[in-house]
Amino acid sequence: MNNSLKLESHHLNTLFNSLKRDNYTLIAPIISNGSIIYEQVNSAEELPRGWTDEQEAATYRLKKQNDNAYFSYNVSPYSWKKFLFPPHIRLFTVESKGKSFKINSSDAPIPAYAFIGVRPCELNAIKIQDKVFNNGQYTDTVYKTRREKVFIVAVNCTQAGGTCFCVSMNTGPKAKGGFDIALTEVINEDGHFFIADPGSEKGTKLMEDIPCSTARQSEIETAERLVQTTAQNMGRSLDTNDIKKLLFASLDSPYWNDVASRCLTCANCTLVCPTCFCSTVEDITDISGEHAERWRRWDSCFTMDFARVFGGNFRPSSKGRYRQWLTHKLASWIDQFGTSGCVGCGRCITWCPVGIDITEEVKRLKNEY
Ligand code: SF4
Ligand code: SF4
Repeated sequence: MNNSLKLESHHLNTLFNSLKRDNYTLIAPIISNGSIIYEQVNSAEELPRGWTDEQEAATYRLKKQNDNAYFSYNVSPYSWKKFLFPPHIRLFTVESKGKSFKINSSDAPIPAYAFIGVRPCELNAIKIQDKVFNNGQYTDTVYKTRREKVFIVAVNCTQAGGTCFCVSMNTGPKAKGGFDIALTEVINEDGHFFIADPGSEKGTKLMEDIPCSTARQSEIETAERLVQTTAQNMGRSLDTNDIKKLLFASLDSPYWNDVASRCLTCANCTLVCPTCFCSTVEDITDISGEHAERWRRWDSCFTMDFARVFGGNFRPSSKGRYRQWLTHKLASWIDQFGTSGCVGCGRCITWCPVGIDITEEVKRLKNEY
């Protein structure tokens, strides 16, 4: 049965208004400081309409286009993880009370977010972080309380980004689940519209309030062709055959010296990565000693202090740190979480200041094998 709906582009803002009416805080792509990032918005008119992004290794540029498309770009340097797993958060405060003390957990209200414009690779990244933070046995309450309220409007990709390789990671360019509504944007001689596919009860209910019609088969096929062309135009791929075996067998490969001679250990790749989840905690006190706070902030396996323990640093070299990142991401992650830690979004390639490209690095490693 065809459940696909046709939403005219001039009605996109009704979707935003319905989500606001249901008390969601809307997060969507906007332009800020020369890049497209995800931030709080009020209306569809704040989207980067008519803009695209050019991405290559160590390169990111915005470019104006001759269309009025709402979603004609690929992934942002930000990912949605900053809203579910905040970069810096106070976990609790402690007040001195004579000879004892009182612990106060953070009682800041947690908004119900509606994420608008989540790409298929990013849906998969959220699914991976669900396994890390919300797996029943070890649940992170900061993540869980945000995640359980989220409404997701996914957007299928109708153009391949310069550094994307989702096809080889089986994570895109079409959303297969994990959304409330999935949109595919179409601009052609018949007009400017979205094919909208509800993916949950919440999504179906919300679409009932929005002026749309049942999509015709030809319109659905047009949208599908756009996504298929995106898959065909993807310039990069990562060969995942025997990847775990390759990495586990390459501990002493000379390749690691080669990448270490290029890597600055700046940690950009881990900060932009939508699945990386390392953090550290810091305790601070005021000058009186009456008040203390515990904060959590993102950390990275590329920083010097990350592997510092009593007695020394067990991963002092950049060679060891890059090897740890790649081996965890593509190999030991599979043992831990039953999935690769990479969804092929390409962010680490675009935002690496020296253009280290995970797809090329795996090829080099294979050549040394
Ligand atoms: S691979 Fe690139 S982004 Fe990652 S730490 Fe090294 S230089 Fe920085
Ligand atoms: S490793 Fe790179 S390409 Fe893979 S998910 Fe992380 S940022 Fe994206």
